[in-house]
This record gives sequence, C-alpha cells and structure tokens, in this order.
Amino acid sequence: MLRFTVVTIFPQMLDSALGHSILHKAREKGLIEIDMVDLRNYTTDRHRTTDDSPYGGGQGMVMKPEPLVTAIEDIRGKTGGARVILLTPRGRVLSQQDAHRLAQEKELVLICGRYEGIDERVGAFVDEEISIGDYTLSGGEPAAHVIIDAVSRLIPGVLGNEDSAADESFVDGLLEYPQYTRPEDFRGMKVPQVLISGDHQRIESWRREKSVEITRERRPDLLAGASFSTAEKVREKEIKSYVYVEIMHYTD
Ligand code: SAM
Repeated sequence: MLRFTVVTIFPQMLDSALGHSILHKAREKGLIEIDMVDLRNYTTDRHRTTDDSPYGGGQGMVMKPEPLVTAIEDIRGKTGGARVILLTPRGRVLSQQDAHRLAQEKELVLICGRYEGIDERVGAFVDEEISIGDYTLSGGEPAAHVIIDAVSRLIPGVLGNEDSAADESFVDGLLEYPQYTRPEDFRGMKVPQVLISGDHQRIESWRREKSVEITRERRPDLLAGASFSTAEKVREKEIKSYVYVEIMHYTD
C-alpha cells in the first residue's frame, strides 16, 4: 500500500479528480490511500495566513515557510520514512523512470505551492523537487494529481490487466505502437493487415518496428535511452546511412 499525502490550501480541489475510475478502484481495494491535508491547519494566526509579500518587492505573494515546514515535520513524525516532494516548475521534470522509482515508496508527501511560489528555505526540508513539465501552472494540485496517477498505475493490482502497464509508451524508452479497434474500415482508413493476420510473432515485430519508427519521428531524444536488440541497432545504422545518402543526393 502506498499512501500519498497532499499538502495544499485547497484540500477539496482534487476530490472529484481522484474519485473516479482506476484511482477510485485502487483506493477501494486498499492499494493506495490519498490524504488531503489543509495547510491552513498548520497556521497559528487568527486569519490562518499561508502567504506574505516578497522580500525585495515584486508581484504577488509568496508562501510562508513556517506552516509548510511544520506540516512536513508533523507528517514525517506521524509516518516515519515519508518521502517529501516539492512541486515546482524548477524541479526535475517527471519521467516514467521517476514514476517507477516512486511506486516503490510507502509514503509520499506532495507539497503544492500557490501564488508566486514558495519561500526558498522550504527546499531544505524536502527530499526532492519535481516539475511535471516546462510550463507554469497556477498551483501544485494538478501536478500532484499527475504524480498520483502516473505512480499508482504502476502498483501491482491497480490496473485490471497486469500487462497493460508493461506495454505502454516510455516503458522501454520508446513511444507506443499504433492501436486500432473496430471497425476494420473507418472512412476508408483500414486497420493494418498484419493485425488481423492472427500471426502473433509478426504482430509483435510490427508493433516493435512502429514503436521505433514513431519514436524516431516524434521524439528522437528518447532513442538514446532506449534498449535495442543487435538486429535493431544494425537496422538503425542502415536507416541513418540511407538518410545521409539521400540528404547528400538532395543537396548535390
Ligand atoms: N513563480 C513561480 C516560478 O516562476 O517558478 C511559479 C509559481 S506557480 C504560479 C505556483 C505553484 O504552482 C508553484 O509553487 C508549484 O507548486 C506549482 N507549479 C507550477 N508549475 C508547475 C510545474 N510545471 N510542475 C509542478 N508544479 C508546478
């Protein structure tokens, strides 16, 4: 069982998002637990203040360190070895490998920022800083949802079919092959013959080939981290030299 604790000033914000489909079933089966913790419970003033104006001036407000650090220390004290993650656009961008690594944990604490961000000193109290991509969200809550989803589906028993997580994009460093369902002919676009051939070996190698091809076209940066068989490496080299010859021919 993996317990996620989300520290936020909007504890109700993810209720609906986390209460459906796979995550809902995973919670019901006791495979994951999600606790939403209201940061305002860790304030000490009458107005339950969590933010203040930035030193040095500038736009907006900054989240104060005291409530956040008190919350982190309290949750750490209650849970033992919780791994505390600060959600920030300045963090390392979440990858599938990170999701696998985090799925091994027992307790994850996700700290959601708001406003202009969080007092820098809070960084000294967390285990790591994660971003979900190179763009700015209004708050850490959607990022917490993304992490909970990506991590939970890797926990054994969460997906109905144990194989579905093994087959997807990024698992072996490649994007997924194209998928089709009925009808066989949709507005003149036919399902590739090989998929209706019933020949499982051919289907498997077609899928692998398509995975490599799509990754090469759309995310060539991923190829460096992917694992290839010797035969595939030879083929890649042939393709590269073919492309090189074609380019030379074109520029002549
Ligand atoms: N001023 C901050 C900056 O430029 O880095 C952005 C603050 S943002 C408006 C408010 C909060 O949203 C952040 O503290 C963080 O918790 C969350 N957030 C925004 N973008 C994010 C991203 N790409 N990944 C994870 N969390 C993000």
